[in-house]
Amino acid sequence: MSDSIFETAMAQLGKALQYYSIDTESELRLQTPRATYTASIPVRMDDGSLKVFQGYRVRYNDLLGPTKGGIRFHPGVTLDEVKSLAFWMTFKCAVVGIPYGGGKGGVTVNPKELSLLEIERLSRGYMSAIADFIGPNVDIPAPDVYTNSMIMGWMVDEYSNITREFTPSIITGKPIALGGSRGREDATGRGGFYALEAMKEKLGLGSKPLTIAVQGFGNVGYHFANLAAQHGHKIVAVSDSKGAIYKKDGLDPESVHKLKQQSRELKAAYCKDSVCEIVEHDTMTNEELLELDVDVLAPAALENVITKDNAKNIKAKAIVELANGPTSPEADEILFEKGIDVVPDILANAGGVTVSYFEWVQNRAGYYWEEADVHDKLKIIIDKAAKEVMDLKDEHNTNLRTCAYIAALRRINEAVKAKGTRQNFSSGS
Ligand code: NAD
Repeated sequence: MSDSIFETAMAQLGKALQYYSIDTESELRLQTPRATYTASIPVRMDDGSLKVFQGYRVRYNDLLGPTKGGIRFHPGVTLDEVKSLAFWMTFKCAVVGIPYGGGKGGVTVNPKELSLLEIERLSRGYMSAIADFIGPNVDIPAPDVYTNSMIMGWMVDEYSNITREFTPSIITGKPIALGGSRGREDATGRGGFYALEAMKEKLGLGSKPLTIAVQGFGNVGYHFANLAAQHGHKIVAVSDSKGAIYKKDGLDPESVHKLKQQSRELKAAYCKDSVCEIVEHDTMTNEELLELDVDVLAPAALENVITKDNAKNIKAKAIVELANGPTSPEADEILFEKGIDVVPDILANAGGVTVSYFEWVQNRAGYYWEEADVHDKLKIIIDKAAKEVMDLKDEHNTNLRTCAYIAALRRINEAVKAKGTRQNFSSGS
């Protein structure tokens, strides 16, 4: 299973290389991670016992700058998964043109089984383990699945304790009080929404309000859904790990989110202040949600949810990949044949890392921007990347994922050539 994730990543690279050839030295450098780190993290549990968790950090490629990527707390985390996610980060940063390479980290843990104090000790333990492997000019972590700004706050505090100087630029996605950026919390969902808006006409979705289903109603899924609903689109279904809710006339993502925060259950609701009333809705499985007849399907949970087994049943006109790696290569082929466009993860969810970059810039400058500035600058970057990818689609007539890889490969290849390849040394000139 974990192997297949990295194989997926390599298959995507292989496909892009069929359309855009790069220096063999660039290719070699992209096939393996630059450095991987595995740590055992002992954590004192609340009952006094000791548990040891496995943690990982991978710096996949630093050709364009220090490596950058989130930290995931999930029972399914393996080195192979972290490696794949770090590979995708390399391309994500390159496709939007920010000066970073790709990295990723994770701990194999089910955080739902830990108390908040145990999560704090684990977070500090993880940071203490990787402190020598990362750095503000080397590798800069951020939040990912089941980690958040509170955890980033503990981690920056731990790192600052270790280095004996406050170092906010070591990690992004921090609380604003510790040097976080305004506009980081909703940046990934917002970037996905900007990408959809920039590409929808080209994707044949027209300019009318769209029907949208969102799989995974966490940070990214909620903010994407909320922004889309605020702009007149209809969110007909959302889901979490326990199942999905559906409402033909559209859900109010903000109310659903509010109620989920209170009751930890997904219910369609209408909330006024703190009073929430449940409104009529259907329930369905996550599999049924994926196969809904909607304009846009937005997977926003985990990898490998659209596979060769269900791709033929997908009825959405377009897919916006808010999660990392939700579509398998076989499914990609099937969707392309069916004429379903897939806005790839490395573009659709690049808003998060872009605002993380803004956070890092603000930390280094010691000067903090207004939220509107963050939104404007994010939109400029996503619009530009979306246009480049669409132009490449006209040129190569292949799927959007391959076009996004080509855009990224062009930048990575330039950096390899600029550093000097065999050609520089064997021409005799
Ligand atoms: P999150 O933990 O806030 O939310 C994940 C959601 O997915 C939760 O609601 C969970 O219940 C749900 N989920 C888990 N398993 C599911 C399943 N089998 N079916 C349906 N729902 C399921 O995480 P997030 O930060 O929103 O990240 C979601 C995805 O977006 C991940 O793939 C992550 O790598 C990617 N991503 C996140 C960011 C970011 O800034 N947070 C940036 C880029 C990419």
